[in-house]
Amino acid sequence: MNECPVCGSPDVSSVTTLFDDRYGYPGSFPLLHCHKCTHSFLRAAFSSEQLGELYSKYYPRSSFDITNYRPAAQHGGFVTWLDGKKSAAFRWVPENVTVLDIGCGFGESLGYYKARGCEAWGVEADENISRVAKEYGYKVHVGLFDPSIYDADFFDYVTMSQVIEHVTDPVATLQGVARVLKPGGMAILSTPNADGLGAWLFGRRWINWHAPYHLQFFSISSMERAAAKAGLTLVETKTITSSEWLNYQWQHLATFPHQGEASPYWAPGRKKSGMQQFAVRMISLLHRSKINHLLTRLFDGLGIGDSRIYFLHKS
Ligand SMILES: [Zn+2]
Repeated sequence: MNECPVCGSPDVSSVTTLFDDRYGYPGSFPLLHCHKCTHSFLRAAFSSEQLGELYSKYYPRSSFDITNYRPAAQHGGFVTWLDGKKSAAFRWVPENVTVLDIGCGFGESLGYYKARGCEAWGVEADENISRVAKEYGYKVHVGLFDPSIYDADFFDYVTMSQVIEHVTDPVATLQGVARVLKPGGMAILSTPNADGLGAWLFGRRWINWHAPYHLQFFSISSMERAAAKAGLTLVETKTITSSEWLNYQWQHLATFPHQGEASPYWAPGRKKSGMQQFAVRMISLLHRSKINHLLTRLFDGLGIGDSRIYFLHKS
């Protein structure tokens, strides 16, 4: 259980312990660091029953109103850059290709692909997607990614935005991705960057630890190694961070809960204290001044942003 899930080395040590600071799942979880490949990972040995409970009882069920559905807009240029929108993997996919988006949420990416002449498929565990898929004619598999349901060597692109950090066996997931990609195809992944400024500055209160839902924290070197094990080559990487998420980070700090308690900021139905309400309001005002936009662009320029995007090529 203490072996690195990327390289298999037992040479790992505990860095700190983390707890569910959003939805109040009980217990604490050691964060381990591998000295061989510099991967970090959460030790959370859930049975499938516990995992079911974690996502059904603690992780809030999404309420979704289909009338509010809009495919992601095509606008590009300055606003996309300023907001850090290219932190979403789908925005890197060119026009007129075949593409699979694993973890497609409510299908914003699929609408974006379709408008750009792509043949798009999606995978999503949240069954709300089936209503959108029916209405808009999207090809979506509801459930977990299962490479065996697609033809091998089929897709030009596979995208995963903020997904790989949730899986227990990231090498197996990448092997599945490699299987369905055409030779010459590209996988584009975005995932939290625990080697950035945020994790260093905010420590255990960094928003992207998101224990125990996030299990894997890649370094460039551990991603390179995981990709190689799957037959993929890391060809490019950079940090691109959504400005909105820095706003969430400040609000997360202002409402940080005790262990075992649900956060008044994240958990549905929890009340903020008067002081917390005031702090959250002030932080929102600050966000409108675009200060978070400037900070995230600066950190990304220095390569120390909170979110990293990886381009993995299949030769
Ligand atoms: Zn390792």
